[in-house]
Amino acid sequence: MTDLPQHDPIYQLNYQWFIEQLSFKQLAEQYGTPLYVYSRAALTRHYQQFDEAFGFIDHQVCFSVKSNSNLAVLNVLARLGAGFDIVSGGELARVLAAGGAAEKIVFSGLGKTEQEIEHALTVGIACFNVESAAELERINTVAARLNVRAPVSLRVNPDVDAKTHPYISTGLKDNKFGIPAETVFDTYARAAELSHIEIIGIDCHIGSQLTESTQPFVDALIKIKEMILTLQQRGITLKHIDIGGGLGVRYYDETPPTPAEYAAALKPLLLELGLKVYMEPGRAISANAGVLLTTVDLLKPTVHKNFAIVDAAMNDFIRPALYGACMSIVRVEAAPHDLAPKTWDIVGAVCESADFLGKDRDLALQQGDVLAVLGAGAYGFVMSSQYNTRPRAAEIMVDQAGSTVVRQRETLASLWELETLLP
Ligand SMILES: *Cc1c(COP(=O)(O)O)cnc(C)c1O
Repeated sequence: MTDLPQHDPIYQLNYQWFIEQLSFKQLAEQYGTPLYVYSRAALTRHYQQFDEAFGFIDHQVCFSVKSNSNLAVLNVLARLGAGFDIVSGGELARVLAAGGAAEKIVFSGLGKTEQEIEHALTVGIACFNVESAAELERINTVAARLNVRAPVSLRVNPDVDAKTHPYISTGLKDNKFGIPAETVFDTYARAAELSHIEIIGIDCHIGSQLTESTQPFVDALIKIKEMILTLQQRGITLKHIDIGGGLGVRYYDETPPTPAEYAAALKPLLLELGLKVYMEPGRAISANAGVLLTTVDLLKPTVHKNFAIVDAAMNDFIRPALYGACMSIVRVEAAPHDLAPKTWDIVGAVCESADFLGKDRDLALQQGDVLAVLGAGAYGFVMSSQYNTRPRAAEIMVDQAGSTVVRQRETLASLWELETLLP
């Protein structure tokens, strides 16, 4: 096992920012910007925090692939023994390509296709997290065709308020996710009748970026515990409970519960249940294991507002535009002494007013300065696009004093490679 670094692998020292043993400045010079940079030590540390916090019970940490699906990121986690929570056949193929073990994969998501189900059954994943009665029938049909039994868990919607942004809240009865509490028992009863379904668990995921307290997780678990007991009375015994993901991170000034606090809050209930515990953290492992480096391209002070136009934009990092996310943006090294701070909007060059990385930031800036968006390791590169015909950024992984290009910067020509002119 890798030694756990004692401090955060992404840190500031004498006004300079570092990721492990390399400075952001030197990485920006070496690889150019915009640039995603990940720390192997931080990924390791965050994974192990979960793994250790749940050491009191049989458990499997399944990293949520949609938060960061770079093969090198998945591979680092797979080597630590991580399982994976996937939401598509594409993610299944990625995990396998990265060396992830099929038998530690849980498959979430609302609209699994027959092909995706077949692939998952063929490689032997741990469990399908089923989101509707119709999906259950579909899985049974595919499993019957392959003459296997599909391991399933039902994703229930416990109707608890995760107190997070509405776009990333998933456990309220109005959300499209999960099986409503009212129909959970009927759906389990139906699953028990189906010839090629094996019921093994129960699952919930109430939302993402939960930062205020562990209470919504506890509330959900209380409801699920009641369901498990009722199922037992009806002759359905489960082997595992999947508590989902959703633990929040600090992006700006949030003070989210730590994995240890999260585990401690759930511990009494989990011990009473005595089932194997699966969990699906994404952001809590990947967000603060990565940063987005960007260079100040032009300054545009106006009478109303000061704009710093940087070379990363909403196509590279969409969280501010999509969720109004407030991210820490720092200079990678000290400003010259004679440069006065001003209040800047840090914006990209894309033709949309939603294209900003941060608003009203007090920074001393001049053209050519390198900035870092902290906490960009989750829902960053994976949500990027080529809007405005902008090649996507490169991704780098740092391991101690070494750095590896884990995804090359896209070239312009590659952007229209799949397009053709009319004859
Ligand atoms: C997105 C998602 C996760 C991960 O959420 P985080 O907030 O990144 O931890 C886990 N499980 C399911 C089903 C998801 O959709």
